[in-house]
Parts: sequence; structure tokens; C-alpha cells
Amino acid sequence: MKITSVTAKPVSYRVPEGQNVTLGIGRAVKRDAVLVKVETDEGIVGWGEAHHGRCPGAVAKLIDTTIRELVVGMNALEVVAVWQRVHKMQLASHGMGTAAAMALSGLDIALWDIRGKAAGWPLYRLLGGAARPVKAYAGGISLGWQQSPQQLAEEAQSYVARGYRALKLRCGDTPARDVARVRTVRDAVGADIDILVDANTNYSLDDFRRVVPAFEECMIGWLEEPFTPHDYRLYRDAATRTTIPLAAGENHYTRFEFTRLIEDGAVRIAQPDASKAGGVTELMRIAAMCSAWKIPFDPHTSATAINIAASIHMLAAVDNPGYFEADVARHNPFRDHLGGTADRLDENGCVRPPEGPGLGLDIDEAFVDAHPLIDGPCYV
Ligand SMILES: [Mg+2]
Repeated sequence: MKITSVTAKPVSYRVPEGQNVTLGIGRAVKRDAVLVKVETDEGIVGWGEAHHGRCPGAVAKLIDTTIRELVVGMNALEVVAVWQRVHKMQLASHGMGTAAAMALSGLDIALWDIRGKAAGWPLYRLLGGAARPVKAYAGGISLGWQQSPQQLAEEAQSYVARGYRALKLRCGDTPARDVARVRTVRDAVGADIDILVDANTNYSLDDFRRVVPAFEECMIGWLEEPFTPHDYRLYRDAATRTTIPLAAGENHYTRFEFTRLIEDGAVRIAQPDASKAGGVTELMRIAAMCSAWKIPFDPHTSATAINIAASIHMLAAVDNPGYFEADVARHNPFRDHLGGTADRLDENGCVRPPEGPGLGLDIDEAFVDAHPLIDGPCYV
């Protein structure tokens, strides 16, 4: 089965006025993704999602002008060979770095969608998994700083009322305000809800030292990305100062960067993103590496149903699943209207992988075409 075309479809939507969530990377004003459509000579079409990298036009251009030329004509079912070729020609040599990893990720997810459709199997089964429940937390673009601690607590309670048993607060603001947020939410939701905290790389070691006693007292489940991803020394130092597990990985690319993250021993929760770190092929490798070190696999999810579905399928297939990150943003048409719902929550706060072949989605191309790229920053 030959790959006959690879096409990037960068898509955007504006966050409605009044729903702008503020977090450590800014105030969300629009959301972007780069969808990747792969066609084959047997008529099977696959869809993937490449992360936008805050510059979706550039990621799309790379796919349309360079990645496509590398892989058209290759066997669509040979995901390892395709991965290897793009990695060697565009990532390991001659640059484009993380943009190439994002582009490769979108391509690889689309090829796994094709493999599943060719076999007539859902992705989780192809990966050796089962349609088992995967515990989910309320996360994504939500629970931000733009509101008072009391309003934040009300938002948190609304997710608990929907069935979530875990949720993720955005911190990385001032230590005092972050501590007030976490304390207020803990008081509101009680001891049984797992509260996770994400600083989006905004802390200094001094900030970290100031928040940790209160975060420990509030029994938070993890502290995510206190520092920028390559501050490995800071992570090692911080890990010696707290019992809270540190989480990171959404800004680490390929198993080669995860090797360092794992071997340093500071990060106890690994969060690779299928749309960034190398697609399904690479995330399964990263999950296996983590398994050997007894580190849970908690994939970071991106904007659309494609990444959401891929993440749930993988969580249903690995032997070290952590949480599925549900994007509980009030308005996310890419989650809801792209071609099926992958993240329906059950009464125990869990999701299950879709049952259709491949990713289990039926992508609505008219919807895709109706959401063309909007240039400009997604966070301000
Ligand atoms: Mg994060």
C-alpha cells in the first residue's frame, strides 16, 4: 500500500470573548492544530495531528514541501521505516528540530489510522490493548488564573459533578496566589479528588521552594513543568526538596530526549504528546522505556479529537497507564465536531477507546475546510 499524498491542513478557531483562560504561557485567544491527511493507492485515508508549535503555518509548510517528498511512494504500513526516514533526513540531520518532530508526529498518527483501517481493527487492539477504562482528569485549557480562587473552586466542583475524580490547576503565577488557589480548591473538593498542578515552566527554584510546603500539605498528585524542559539540573535539585512527584514531557521530543529525562531520575511522571514527541510509533517506545523505570505514562493531549483518540488508544494498550488528560475547555469545536467523540466520561471518571477501525473517527472535511488557519499568536 503506497503513500500517494500527504497534505497539511492547518486549522484555527478563536476562543469566544469571556472564555479566555490564562495560564503560565499567556491568555488563550485562539486555538490551532495542523491536521495531516495521508492518502494511499488503495483508497484508504488516514488522519493525524501535528502540534501547532505556536506557528501552525510553518509546521504545515514543512509537511507540504519537505516531509511529503520524503515519504510519497513509501509503503504506508511500514511506520517504522517512514519514521526512520523522516528522522534521519529532517530531524537528526539538516535541522528544523522540534518542527520536524511535530510534522513527523502528525504523519505517524495518520499512518497508524491507516494501519487500523486496513486491518479493520481499532488502534488499541492493533497495539495489543483492550477496550478497558482509562482514568481521566479535567485538564486542557481550563482552571486558569483569570478568576478568583472562589470562582476557580466553583469551576473545579463543576468537573467533579460531571464525574471527574482528578483535575489540574494552572499555577506558575506568584507563589502566594498559587498557594491560595490550591488551598481553596482543596477545601472545596475534599480529600478524595486528585489535584494536579501545572506551572507551565514558570517557576524559579525560589518560587518552587515557596510553594512546596503548602502543595505538600494539600496533597497534590504532581507538580508539572515547574521549569523549562532543558533545565535538567533544576529538576534534579528540586526533586531532592519535595515528596511531590515532578511531571514533565510535553516539551520533550522523541525517545532520545526522554532518555535523559528518565535517566536523571528527577521526573516521576512522563507526559509525551503524540503530536509532538513522534507520534504513536515513538510514544509506544517512550512508554516502554518508562515502564522499565516504573514511571507512569501520562500523555499530554493537544487540541483535537485526533490527538485525544490516539492518546486514549495508547493508554488502553500500555502496561503503565497514567491519566488521560481531558480538555474540558467550554468551547472546543475541534474536540466535539471534527468527526466523533473520543472522550466520553463514565460514572467512574474514566474514558474508553473508540471502537471503529484506526483512530475510530470519521473526519468531516467540510468542517476542516471551514476552519482555515488564522495567523497570529494563540496566547498573548
Ligand atoms: Mg502542561
